[in-house]
Amino acid sequence: MEQYLMYINGESVDSSDKERFETINPYNQEAWATIPQASSTDVNDAVQAAKECFENEWKNTIGLTRAELMMNLADLIDENAQRLAEIESTDNGKIIRETKNQMHFAARNYRFFAGYADKLYGDVIPLDNLNTLDYTIREPIGVLALITAWNSPIALLTNKLAPALATGNTVVVKPSEYASATTLEFGKLMKEAGFPDGVFNVVTGDYKVGEALTKNPNIGKISFTGGPATGQIISKNASENLIPLTMELGGKSPNIIFDDANIENAAVGAIAGIFGASGQTCIAGSRLLVQKGVYQEVLDKLTERVKSIKLGDPLDPNTDMGPVANASQFKRILSMIEDGANEGAKVLAGGSSVQDGPFENGFFIEPTLLANVNNEMAVAQNEIFGPVLSIIPFEDEEEAIRIANNSDYGLASGVWTRDLSRAHRMAREIEAGQVWINTYRTNAAQAPFGGVKQSGYGKERGWHALLENTTVKNVMIDLSEDARDPFSVKV
Ligand code: NAD
Repeated sequence: MEQYLMYINGESVDSSDKERFETINPYNQEAWATIPQASSTDVNDAVQAAKECFENEWKNTIGLTRAELMMNLADLIDENAQRLAEIESTDNGKIIRETKNQMHFAARNYRFFAGYADKLYGDVIPLDNLNTLDYTIREPIGVLALITAWNSPIALLTNKLAPALATGNTVVVKPSEYASATTLEFGKLMKEAGFPDGVFNVVTGDYKVGEALTKNPNIGKISFTGGPATGQIISKNASENLIPLTMELGGKSPNIIFDDANIENAAVGAIAGIFGASGQTCIAGSRLLVQKGVYQEVLDKLTERVKSIKLGDPLDPNTDMGPVANASQFKRILSMIEDGANEGAKVLAGGSSVQDGPFENGFFIEPTLLANVNNEMAVAQNEIFGPVLSIIPFEDEEEAIRIANNSDYGLASGVWTRDLSRAHRMAREIEAGQVWINTYRTNAAQAPFGGVKQSGYGKERGWHALLENTTVKNVMIDLSEDARDPFSVKV
């Protein structure tokens, strides 16, 4: 069994009190590695290392050097993509086709942000008084706490780390206790890429480690990806030290098919939106809104397509859907399907666990279609985070917008239409951080990502992420030697 170590100040270290926990492969429920449970001393050590590195070295490292190191890192991720993908798929059950893509996408993100590292400049601002020179400096924040969920550890880490490094911050990362391995592997790549010790630190363990980190007064900012309930706790804890936050939380995203859409493509988009990653993505298009004129046609197409989804070993490149990631997910998803059926949803496909033959020990759930869902039902309002699509019929554009926005969440959305005017109207009206038109679950390093409402606040990816990782300092210089009234504000 693999024995992982944490990564603090450039060293691989065990937890100071030697406590460990097992990490389970969701495909066979076997413990395949052990992970250290960090003590509060370990967390303090990691923050201290990040603070000293920031103050003594990293904040004065020129942008070009940061960029070169990030490019080295990107090359190393590409070289190690297959190995990292295998580890991640073993740890969280996500299929290798996706984890491998995510590694290359991560590399692309480091390259994208490396390009900004030596181009972070401020403004010279003309004032009313011509004898005053005013300018701004964009500065790194300091030590950032990066807390991530289990569903895409390296992708989620990268969303935070790439802009953080480009802008000159140091970090302490706390990955999910359900999937820590690749984040720990990442420490070795950071070392090999040539980053100074202390730029990147990883502490592992459960919520207690997260709490110790988010309450540490030397943290300059917290960037969190996870569920809204955890987000609320972190917000409260961070408020003790007034630590600013970025929150990437859950979703219940509407994927909307109008009757003028290319229905074949829309059906594929609906499948990609919900059954990719076994539905365990924050951006899952988990509410499918279908205009009544094509409702039956869409149901027929989906029912047909769902039959061909191949469940199996996440490490097999031919598998379409792996298991869900852990026992609590497994139980929760099945009970939510049952609640939906009890509330009157029609189970068109799936609806159960799969526990025969090769699936005997895995957390497998059938791709599930729930038809005739009403937006007030729990399966339409609550994030299931599993392979369950709630299908809701609608009459017209106005009703589609009303249903789409009747949600606590506002992360992503999809619109399938050939009507250009309608596409733009929908893009304007939908309350979400992301609107996909005639596509779904498409990502780009350049495109900002992040939700509204209970889905959180702040942006990752795109140049917008640079703003989240820096502060603006204003410098005002009086060029005159004029005398002034000491008791009045000078303008
Ligand atoms: P979670 O909220 O249970 O845990 C997320 C992280 O927070 C883990 O590392 C966990 O150990 C840590 N944590 C838990 N309690 C803490 C505390 N009190 N203080 C500090 N840290 C604490 O979420 P999860 O089950 O790992 O992930 C699923 C959720 O994440 C879903 O809601 C999903 O939508 C969301 N998610 C959002 C995005 C996004 O970018 N918006 C991406 C992926 C997942």
